[in-house]
Amino acid sequence: MAGHRLRDYPYWRDQAPLRDIGEGGPLPENADVVVVGAGYSGLSVALHLARAGRDVVVIDQDRPGEHASTQNFGAVGRTIRHKFTAVAEEVGLPTAVRIFQEAQGWLDYTADFVEREQIECGFTRNGRLYGAHTPEAYEAMARDMEIHQKHMPVDTVMIPRAEQHKALCSEDFFGAQYLRDVGLLHPGRYHAGLLDRALAAGARVFGKCRADGFEHASDGHVVTTPRGAIRSKELVLCTNAATGSHHPLLRYFRRRMIPIHSWTLVTEPVDDATIRAAMPNGAMQLDTTLLYTGIRAIDQDKRILLTAQHLFDHPDAESAARACLAQATERMPALANVRADYCWVGTFALTFDWLPHIGKDPKTGVHYQVGMVGTGVPAAGYLGWKLANRILGKPEGETVFADRPYPTRPFYNGNPRWILPYMREYYRWRDNGAWRRALAKHGRQPAPSPAA
Ligand SMILES: Cc1cc2nc3c(=O)[nH]c(=O)nc-3n(C[C@H](O)[C@H](O)[C@H](O)COP(=O)(O)OP(=O)(O)OC[C@H]3O[C@@H](n4cnc5c(N)ncnc54)[C@H](O)[C@@H]3O)c2cc1C
Repeated sequence: MAGHRLRDYPYWRDQAPLRDIGEGGPLPENADVVVVGAGYSGLSVALHLARAGRDVVVIDQDRPGEHASTQNFGAVGRTIRHKFTAVAEEVGLPTAVRIFQEAQGWLDYTADFVEREQIECGFTRNGRLYGAHTPEAYEAMARDMEIHQKHMPVDTVMIPRAEQHKALCSEDFFGAQYLRDVGLLHPGRYHAGLLDRALAAGARVFGKCRADGFEHASDGHVVTTPRGAIRSKELVLCTNAATGSHHPLLRYFRRRMIPIHSWTLVTEPVDDATIRAAMPNGAMQLDTTLLYTGIRAIDQDKRILLTAQHLFDHPDAESAARACLAQATERMPALANVRADYCWVGTFALTFDWLPHIGKDPKTGVHYQVGMVGTGVPAAGYLGWKLANRILGKPEGETVFADRPYPTRPFYNGNPRWILPYMREYYRWRDNGAWRRALAKHGRQPAPSPAA
C-alpha cells in the first residue's frame, strides 16, 4: 500500500530502543571479571557477580542486545530441542531427568526473576501448542509424554484431533501437544531490564568495543580491543551465535555451533476476531515440522508475530515478509489480508548435541556460556546465574549443563552456509510431503507447496 513502510528491524526495539552505552574513550585497565557479550547471558553473569561485590566490565562489539537477545520471539519455555526419550537414549535416564528438571528450573527462575526485579516485560503464562503435522508425529509426542510424565511430571496435555479446533488455528493438524505453564515476554524490555539491573549493581558496560585478542596467564587474562587492553582475574565469553572466527579461542567455540537464520514478522494491529481465529485459546503455536511456522500474539497492541522461512536468504525484508505471510496463510487463512509492519532476520546458535553449554575451558581457564540452542530467553538468565555462582565458588553453581563434552564434527569450520540450503530443501521435502500425504489420506485438500 502506498505510504506504508515495512521496518526491517525487530519490532521490540521501538518500545525498548538499543542504547549507546560506554562508546568512545578508553577501557579501564583492570577489572576482577571481564565479560565479552552483552546479551542476556553476559548481563546475567555480570549482574550476579557485581551484586556479589566483584568489579565487572562487560564489553560488546555492537550495542548491548543488538543480536539474538532482541531479535527473538520472546517464548519462555522449559524444553530443549530434543524429546525426553531421545535425550534419555543419548545420555541415560538419570541425566535426562536432571536436564529436564533444570529446563523447568529456567522457566521458574525467569518467572520469579522478572517479578522479584520488577522488570516490566509483560511476562505471561499463555501456554504453547505443537500442532502435529501427521498422525505419526502426534503418536510420537504422546508416547514421549507418557514416559516423560512417569519420570518427571510436567504440566503438558495432549489434545486429540477431535478437540483441536478449540485451540489450533486450523483443522489441518492431527492433534496437538499443549504445554500449559510456559510463557511469553517482551524480549527488548527483558533485555533492557537486565541491563538496568546490571548497571545499577555496578557493572560497567562498554558498547561498540570488540574483543580482538585473548592472552591467558596463571594470574589472569588480557583482552585486547581497539580501545585498549584490559586485564582481569576471570574472563567470561558470552558471544553465542555472534562468535567470530578471528582468534583461535573464538574459533574453538564457533566450530561447536551451527548458526541458523530465521525470519520473524510482526503484523499491523489486528482486531480481536483475527487474533482469536489464529490463536483460539491464546497460546503460542508451533508445528512439528523441523522448519516450523510459529505464531504468538503481542497483546499490548494487538499484533501477531509469526516466524517462518528458516534458512531462506531473502534479498530484503519486503521479499521475506511476502514469503512469511504466504507460508503462514496456508494454514491460517485469517492472516490472508493482514499487512506486515516489521520483518527481520536473526541467528540462532544450535549445538551438535542440542544442549546449551556453560563451563570453564581447561586449557585457557576462560569461562564460557556459548550455544544457547534457541532456548536462551529463559535459559541464558538462569545459566548466567549458575555461571556467576560457579565463579564465586558457591554450591548454587551446580548444573548438569556445565563442563559437558562439547562436540564438533570433523572438517566443520563453523560456517555451514554452503550446506544449509540443501538441508532446508531436504527437510521441506520430507516434512511437507508427509503432511500433504497425511491430509490427502484423511480426505482433506492438501495445502499448496509451502512458499519459498
Ligand atoms: C529469530 C530468533 C528467535 C528466537 N526465539 C527464541 C524464543 O522464542 N525463546 C527462546 O528461549 N530463545 C529464542 N531464541 C534464542 C535466544 O534469543 C538466544 O538464545 C539468546 O538471546 C542468547 O543470548 P546470548 O546473550 O547468549 O547471545 P546474544 O544475545 O547473541 O549476545 C551475544 C553478544 O556477544 C557480542 N559479541 C560477539 N562477539 C564479540 C566480540 N568479539 N567482542 C565483543 N562482543 C562480542 C555480540 O555483539 C552480542 O551482543 C531466538 C533466537 C533468534 C535468532
